[in-house]
Amino acid sequence: MIYFSPVDINTYSTWLEIDLQAIKNNAALIREKTGAEVMAVIKANGYGHGARPAAQAAIAGGATWIGVARIEEALALRRGGISSKLLVLGFTPAAKVPEAIEHNITVALFDPELAQNYLDYVNIHGGTLHAHLKVETGMGRLGMTPELVAPFLEGLKDTALDVDGIFTHLARADEPDSDSTPRQLAIFDALLADLESKGLKPERVHAANSAAVLNFPQSYYDIVRPGDILFGMSPTGDTLPDGFKPALTWKARIISLHNFPAGQGISYGSTYVTSKEERIGVMPTGYGDGFRRAENQQVLVDGKRVDIVGRVCMDQCMLQLDSVPDAKVGDEIVIIGTQGDETLSVDEVAKRWGTINYEVVCGLADRLPRIYNE
Ligand SMILES: *Cc1c(COP(=O)(O)O)cnc(C)c1O
Repeated sequence: MIYFSPVDINTYSTWLEIDLQAIKNNAALIREKTGAEVMAVIKANGYGHGARPAAQAAIAGGATWIGVARIEEALALRRGGISSKLLVLGFTPAAKVPEAIEHNITVALFDPELAQNYLDYVNIHGGTLHAHLKVETGMGRLGMTPELVAPFLEGLKDTALDVDGIFTHLARADEPDSDSTPRQLAIFDALLADLESKGLKPERVHAANSAAVLNFPQSYYDIVRPGDILFGMSPTGDTLPDGFKPALTWKARIISLHNFPAGQGISYGSTYVTSKEERIGVMPTGYGDGFRRAENQQVLVDGKRVDIVGRVCMDQCMLQLDSVPDAKVGDEIVIIGTQGDETLSVDEVAKRWGTINYEVVCGLADRLPRIYNE
């Protein structure tokens, strides 16, 4: 892991700076706001921020669980020394059950047949597999339909498959005025009451993603499962409540500069041609880094917005620097983040790309150095 130092910063031409204090702060804020246990969801390499450092920072901020999508992500965290409780939220192949048991990783259950396969592996391997049961209440994705849950749990009593949690996922928690979330929670609550009356209710209950943490206190139960807001991003792109801090800055340096005469084509296809003498800089960042090949993009140089001109290449793109006549090779460029008085938010980039902040950060390539600012 690379920690921030001025020397490191001079070493790279394009890099991410990750503010671990921001992640820690956001985790603590969520814990305080909800009063629930916090399961920091750090799937997809911690939303691009780096899974292990993000997990460590969230734990430092009070998170007691880590949630991931795949067992490979959970195993990598264990190898990286993360010893907190870990839940795989998505599908775990039955053949991975022995590893889940060895490394004390909790899996999600959503299908009685798959659970039977798990149990076969548990019985061969020995030990106990911990699982949280996922219930379908309106997401239309993974989850057991509520009617199946009680008989299913009854059937697992006294087996080595220990269902010590139950959860559901909300489809529209980013819409505070929709009745979708209250309807989902009503279905979930009715099931929980039924299980309680039958002595089958698992110990831990959870439902809230980031949007629900912001909008639906009745969804907090025992554990909340935020991802986006943990990194200081907003599930809707609207401003977050006071106190949340974005953790990510994406920077680069100008690596070359030309004063081209009029008529110079810039980049593949010469889709941009200089109309007069123009100052064109090269930014060593392209779609191979997760910076999309889109038109009409801007970055910050010397605290000013400058246009990207011509097509974005795999490893480079070009900047029109006429408004920054003093710009020189080595100057810092901000792709996402703040420079001087200007900010380019991850949501502005998302809008440009016709997507959401989640997809922007998940697309940050492995080859980008991540520098951790503690
Ligand atoms: C990804 C995910 C989350 C976190 O979602 P955010 O919107 O980033 O907070 C929570 N629960 C489940 C099941 C998920 O898949």
